[in-house]
Amino acid sequence: MTSLDQVRSRAAELIAAHLGTGSWSFGFDNAKTRAGQCDFAKRRITVSKHLAVRFSDDDVEQVLLHEVAHALSGARAGHGPKWRRTAAAIGYTGSRLHDGPIASELAPWVGECPAGHEHFRYRTPTRPLACAKCSRRFDERHLITWTRRADVARTEPARSELGTEARR
Ligand SMILES: [Zn+2]
Ligand SMILES: [Zn+2]
Repeated sequence: MTSLDQVRSRAAELIAAHLGTGSWSFGFDNAKTRAGQCDFAKRRITVSKHLAVRFSDDDVEQVLLHEVAHALSGARAGHGPKWRRTAAAIGYTGSRLHDGPIASELAPWVGECPAGHEHFRYRTPTRPLACAKCSRRFDERHLITWTRRADVARTEPARSELGTEARR
C-alpha cells in the first residue's frame, strides 16, 4: 500500500530526473480502469488515486516509469519500439502492466461464459452479453453469467463519479 503523498513525491523526483524541472506536472485522476495517463497537450502525468493506494511501492514506480517513458518518447511512439527502448532504459520492467489485473481486482461484476472465460464490468450488466472470446457475434450459447462480488461492493465508486467518467 502506498500513500498519495509518497506517489506525488516520487513522481516529482522521476519527472525532475528524466524530464527536467518545470517541464511536466503531476496530478491524480479518478480513473478506475487504467493506472496512469500521459497528457501530451498539457504536459501532465496523472495516476489514478483509486488504484495508486492499492498498489505496492514497486507497482507505483512502474506506473510512473511507464508514463515518464511516454513523456520522453512522444505521443506518436505509442507502445512501440521507441517507447519500449526508452521505458527499459529508465527501469521499466513491466509489459502493459495493470490493464487486466486491476480491472479484475476492482470491478464489482464478474462474469463467466460456459467455456470459463472471465469478464469484468463496472456497471450492472443490463442486457444479455455473449462471450466475445468464444464467438465474435452475439450467440446465446456463449452467454455470460454475472455475479456481483461482495468484497468489492464497498469500493465501488459513487454514482456521481461514474457519471463523470462516462462523459469523458
Ligand atoms: Zn502506456
Ligand atoms: Zn468464452
